Amino acid sequence: MAVDREDYLRELLREGFLIHPSALEVAIESGITLSQLKSIALKSGSRYIKEEMLRSMRAAVEGKAVKKPEKARGDVEHAVEVLMDASTSMGTRGAVEDFSALFNDRFRRLAPLVKRRLKWAYSIADVRNRSGQEVRIIGMVSDCRVTRNGFYRITMEDTSGEITVIAGPDMLMGETVLPDEVIGVVGEVSRRGDDVIFAREIVWPEVDPIPSPRGADAPVDAVIISDVHVGSREFLAERFERFIAWLKSEEASRVRYLLIAGDLVDGVGVYPGQENELEITSVYEQYERLSRYLEEIPERIKVIVIPGNHDFTRPHEPQPGFPEEVRKILPPDTMVLSNPSLIRLHGVTFLLYHGTSLNDMVEAIPGADYSRIENAMIGLLRRRHLAPIYGGKVPLAPLPRDYLVVEEVPQFFVTGHVHSYAYARWKGVHLINASTWQAQTAYQKMLNFQPDPCVATVVHLDALTVEEMRF
Ligand code: FE
Ligand code: ZN
Repeated sequence: MAVDREDYLRELLREGFLIHPSALEVAIESGITLSQLKSIALKSGSRYIKEEMLRSMRAAVEGKAVKKPEKARGDVEHAVEVLMDASTSMGTRGAVEDFSALFNDRFRRLAPLVKRRLKWAYSIADVRNRSGQEVRIIGMVSDCRVTRNGFYRITMEDTSGEITVIAGPDMLMGETVLPDEVIGVVGEVSRRGDDVIFAREIVWPEVDPIPSPRGADAPVDAVIISDVHVGSREFLAERFERFIAWLKSEEASRVRYLLIAGDLVDGVGVYPGQENELEITSVYEQYERLSRYLEEIPERIKVIVIPGNHDFTRPHEPQPGFPEEVRKILPPDTMVLSNPSLIRLHGVTFLLYHGTSLNDMVEAIPGADYSRIENAMIGLLRRRHLAPIYGGKVPLAPLPRDYLVVEEVPQFFVTGHVHSYAYARWKGVHLINASTWQAQTAYQKMLNFQPDPCVATVVHLDALTVEEMRF
């Protein structure tokens, strides 16, 4: 039976408790009862229930609900479907027209997602003669600036034209408008005939919660890691070896997949002065060393990898899987996919993205920082785009198709790159920023950034629950 959110809320309010919407969602999904919620709040000395307060309780309750995870069976076969892999997409001449094709495609794919929320919309050209009327439009942001009195002045365009939108500071509700993203606006056309819309509401493509997520029908786990950085002096070899040893152990017998979200090696010449921080100075030897680890992994575990910005492939996103000379170094059964890619393991969807745009998002999105990187991930999901900011730190490949649009909302959204660890849930999507196996680098020290290394995330594909393991 579906739990009634309203009942939960009403009951909590009646007894003087407040709950954050994401915490409410977690509570309902994990089957945490009202009395458990209240006791968590009282124990923490706060009447405002937040998601992080539910972490330990969730583990306990979910542990009970799914009993002990079912024992591994020897007969389970791999079931991987690749829903999106950009590796085969052709190169490009890099001409200006190609970028306009890319942005046209972005608009074409995102506009229907905004329209789904607006119900109807005029084209921008259509709005011109409607002074004083309420209108709805969908457009790509070509410019956004904050005026002296704190208002946003947004230039939007679609295939029919361009218009200026003025939005009050309260309207963005802690969000921000980014250049090149596709948004919708509900507002009133200025009576002065000056092609200006005064916005009442700004709408992003957003995510609809997955109604009843299905798990695998076999007792299998996927383990997720990222940013191994083999070849770096700061690569934590001993702790990585402990992880590999665990994969080989009886304890990991349910594990059928290992997903690595990029930066398999540290690379060579990725940033100025890198040579001083390398233990292995040949990129091929770095992959050889990594390969020796991967060869130790038992055959029952399928290894699936995507590249990151340190890897040996085109840096422009989407990054194709590795070129032949790297592929042939990796164990032959390694599955090499593009960054990003979308896969299904026993019916459970994973969007794998290295996360290069997270740096830009942390700077752009209010409330996102490196210790709460899930907020930046949410910023990407609600925009339904993995690298909405063009001209930031993410070089884009000017392809005729925009592979960075999040067309299908995944059950698991996996990133790495920023070397912190995060697990959160938002609208039913599991967000994982998958840590690293590299200690603090000189560069990170200069930025006063502390990585959170050596965390592997175990996803129980049958129960759709997650465990974080530290090595
Ligand atoms: Fe990295
Ligand atoms: Zn990276």
